[in-house]
Amino acid sequence: MKALVLTGQRTVSLVDRPKPEVSAPADVVVRIAQTGICGTDRSVLVGKFPAEPGVVMGHEAVGTVDSVGAAVTTHKPGDRVVVNPTLYCGSCPPCLRGHWDFCDNKAGTEVGLDLDGAFAEYLRLPGRFVHTLPDGMDFDRAVGVEPLACALNNVAAGRLRAGETAVIVGGGPVGVVCAMAAWHHGARVLLTEPDPYRQELCRAVFAADFGGRVTVHAPDESVLVQRGDVVIDTVGNLLEQGLAYAADRGRVVIMGYHSKASATVRPLEILRRGLEIIGAGDYNSRLFPTAIELARWLPLERLVTHRFPLERHAEAFAALAAAPGTPYSALKVVLVPE
Ligand SMILES: [Zn+2]
Ligand SMILES: [Zn+2]
Repeated sequence: MKALVLTGQRTVSLVDRPKPEVSAPADVVVRIAQTGICGTDRSVLVGKFPAEPGVVMGHEAVGTVDSVGAAVTTHKPGDRVVVNPTLYCGSCPPCLRGHWDFCDNKAGTEVGLDLDGAFAEYLRLPGRFVHTLPDGMDFDRAVGVEPLACALNNVAAGRLRAGETAVIVGGGPVGVVCAMAAWHHGARVLLTEPDPYRQELCRAVFAADFGGRVTVHAPDESVLVQRGDVVIDTVGNLLEQGLAYAADRGRVVIMGYHSKASATVRPLEILRRGLEIIGAGDYNSRLFPTAIELARWLPLERLVTHRFPLERHAEAFAALAAAPGTPYSALKVVLVPE
């Protein structure tokens, strides 16, 4: 099969790989329909996030079941599924306490970063990480389920309540999904994004069905006059900006992964204004079925602005500003094996 593999020079190259087959009784092999390019994938290529050279990248995957191991009773060939790529070992101390999202072995269990992923024709993984889609949910909506699971976890970590104001920092796909999740919690949502083209893409997503309760802003004074009870930094290096956007007694959630970011905080400001800074990781796998249910009600397919075959991966990553000095020209880009 064709697969997109990370090279030692932090580029990707399309190679031939053996098709994965069921090897353990609990295995499921998924024939990939499409896979979203995540901000994390982009971060790997621009040197902001570690990954294992030689790995097949890609983790936001949907498709149909190709084959199942002898012990799999929950899936059969032909089932339409979405993949939960956040594997965990199940036996380390955090896992035994149910904190699967903080698995001690996480550094070796992320599909598409440490284990072979879904920018390929087929993907093999344990059946418990494969979820059947509700009837009628199309693949363009379902490809947003994994980002939605991240968003739900981080919105919940901020303890967002109906009637509050949420400021979502960053108008990329995760920011947009966070804004949808925050809106669903009953909040008024301000989404900030510096790139004018992305601002327009975001406005188009929220133009209908959200009751005018999600608005898009440049990161400037207009946000500072209406601060957030909850602020979510989906970029990962904007904590200082996030603190400035927070109302007194506000909760600032760091969501974006950025291995090189650092920030200066003034302890007295945290103390006097009663601010909280929260880190919540990506998501616990028990949230994944909740994300699938919620996806029935959120128009996640509006995020998909571009679709490319695997062969045209260079154009796909270029649309996400993965090359130095290039602007964003897309929201969510998906890769389709052919
Ligand atoms: Zn992702
Ligand atoms: Zn573990």
